[in-house]
Amino acid sequence: MRAIPAQLETSESGHSLMDPFGRAITYLRVSVTDRCDFRCVYCMSEDMAFLPKRDLLTLEELDRICSAFVAKGVRKLRITGGEPLVRRDIMTLFGSLSRHLDSGALDELTVTTNGSQLARHAKDLAACGVRRINVSLDTLDPDKFRAITRWGDLAKVMHGLDAAQGAGLKVKINAVALKGVNEDELEALLEWAHGRGMDLTLIEVMPLGEIDGQRIDQFLPLSMIRARLAARYTLQDLDDRTGGPARYVRVKETGGRLGFITPMTHNFCESCNRVRVTCTGQLFMCLGQEDAADLRAPVRASESNELLDRAIVDAIARKPKGHDFIIDRRHSRPALSRHMSVTGG
Ligand code: SAM
Repeated sequence: MRAIPAQLETSESGHSLMDPFGRAITYLRVSVTDRCDFRCVYCMSEDMAFLPKRDLLTLEELDRICSAFVAKGVRKLRITGGEPLVRRDIMTLFGSLSRHLDSGALDELTVTTNGSQLARHAKDLAACGVRRINVSLDTLDPDKFRAITRWGDLAKVMHGLDAAQGAGLKVKINAVALKGVNEDELEALLEWAHGRGMDLTLIEVMPLGEIDGQRIDQFLPLSMIRARLAARYTLQDLDDRTGGPARYVRVKETGGRLGFITPMTHNFCESCNRVRVTCTGQLFMCLGQEDAADLRAPVRASESNELLDRAIVDAIARKPKGHDFIIDRRHSRPALSRHMSVTGG
């Protein structure tokens, strides 16, 4: 990739944010809270300190930031967290953002959730124009589920999945592949997900944030899993790109789609089209780097969007080429101090 000066390009279809490597930024992930009702062992430590409420952006401020990105050519918005569906009045944000779907400025409004609150929110999400959602689920075994999430109840998530599919939402299951934990269950997970008409994406664990225990003990390279699955199933490569880093195959025997997100063994930074905003308004240009731009100060400094727009354009001009995660015995410290729940998955 060759670096070119970042710019705000104007095209016939509107504006687009272009980073120094010529990648158009069309996908924004927004974390609306750092809080979660689970404590997944690979994501958080059990005694997490959460941000004081006054530091969080209000729902109106989150809307303003999302809308500023949409005006600059972002076509896909993913609401995440923490657990986004535990934020009070979160449906107000989905409701207000849905105007960008109605106007045609946005192609997709979606959410990543642990599923615990879906039973009460699925219908409202669908009414706000959400069509597809990602639900994180690493195991189908209730005891293992409790052990991984520390606080979660599998039955509640299953109930949430029923509600989501009942409301017409297309569901993709995301599972983090964990050595010695769900390693032996991935075939079962695949058959279950595809049997219910849901795609499944497997994810490699990333060295984000201090956790109880060692990352290397959790890490399972997906290259190994793919080879194992290929011995049992016919995996047909697909060209499908959903604007994410997953590479997809069709599993001939089940007819379903299977994705692999491999930030550790093979990154796809060259096609990265996304940036992330945290619930305090920090804009991260890369999940795997420390550099961030503060959007909360410009939002709070003025009612017009001039300062905010400038801050966004300046930040995109600094988007790095990619991340350089390493997990091994010599690198026992996390690559980054912040947890996935801060930047949003
Ligand atoms: N609470 C929501 C959920 O569970 O989907 C959204 C936030 S959660 C941080 C988003 C995703 O990040 C989940 O699929 C979770 O499994 C994944 N995740 C968390 N920490 C991770 C890590 N260190 N490496 C890889 N994936 C991680």
